[in-house]
Amino acid sequence: MAADKYSMGVDIGSTASKCLILKNGEETVGQSIIASGTGTSGPGRAVAEALGMAGLTMEDISCVTATGYGRNTFSGADYIVSELSAHAIGAYALFPGVRTVIDIGGQDAKAIRVNEQGRMENFIMNDKCAAGTGRFLDVMARVLELDVSELEKRDALAESTVRISSTCTVFAESEVISQLAQNVDINALVAGIHDSVAVRTASLVRRLGLIEPVVMSGGVARNGGVVRALEKELGVSISVSPLNQLGGAFGAAIYGWKKIS
Ligand code: ADP
Repeated sequence: MAADKYSMGVDIGSTASKCLILKNGEETVGQSIIASGTGTSGPGRAVAEALGMAGLTMEDISCVTATGYGRNTFSGADYIVSELSAHAIGAYALFPGVRTVIDIGGQDAKAIRVNEQGRMENFIMNDKCAAGTGRFLDVMARVLELDVSELEKRDALAESTVRISSTCTVFAESEVISQLAQNVDINALVAGIHDSVAVRTASLVRRLGLIEPVVMSGGVARNGGVVRALEKELGVSISVSPLNQLGGAFGAAIYGWKKIS
C-alpha cells in the first residue's frame, strides 16, 4: 500500500493565519486559526498548531501551498495561489456546482464567479474601504463591548433594527456611540450593523451578477447574523462552508494536492 501523503494549505490573511492539512487529498487531519495575520508570528504558530493536531512534523508534508494577503511573505511554500482561486477551489470542493462565492475577511470583501468546472472566472472586490468587511464588525463589536463571536446571538434576540445611515466606518462608529448614549437596544443596533454589511456586500454581488448557488466563506461567514441579513438582501439562500474561515486554507491544500497527485 502506498504511503499516506499530506498536503498543507496556509492562508495568511490581514487579520488571521489559518492552516489546514489534508491526508491523501480527502481527510482533514489538522487545522488551526490564529488571530494574528501577515507580518506576525501568526503563520508559524498556525502551522505548528495544525501539525500538532495531526501528530505530524514538517518532514511528513509532501507539499505546502500558501495563499492570502501575506502569501508572498511566507517562506517554505512549494506553491502560491491567490486567495480568490483558493476560496473558489475550496467552496467548489464542498459545494460542487457553486457559481458565486462571497468571501468576507478582516480587511476586504470579494464576490467571486466560479465557472461550471469550478474555476474562478471573475471577481469584484472591495479592499479600499473598511465598511462591509470584518474590520467594520470588529470596530462595532468593540464599541458595543462585545466579542465578534457574540454578534450572531445578539442579532437573533433583536426585536427591531436600528438603521445605520453612515456608510463610512468612522462615522458609523460615532453614530453607534451616539445611539448608545440614547440607551438604544444593543441587539437592535447589532441587527442594524449586520444589515449595513449585507447592503454593501449585496452591491458587490450585484455588480458581479448574482448566479445561484451561492456559498459564503471567510471569517465573517462565522457570523450567521450577517449571512441571514445577506440572504434577505439578495433574496437567495446562501450555503455556508462548514470550514468558513478555513475555506482559503482548504482550497490551497486541495490546489497543492492536485499538483502532486
Ligand atoms: P483575513 O483572511 O483577511 O485575515 P478572515 O477570513 O480570517 O480574514 O476573517 C477575519 C474576520 O472574521 C474578523 O475580522 C472577524 O470579523 C471575523 N470573525 C473571526 N472570528 C469570528 C467569530 N468567531 N464569529 C464571527 N466573526 C468572526
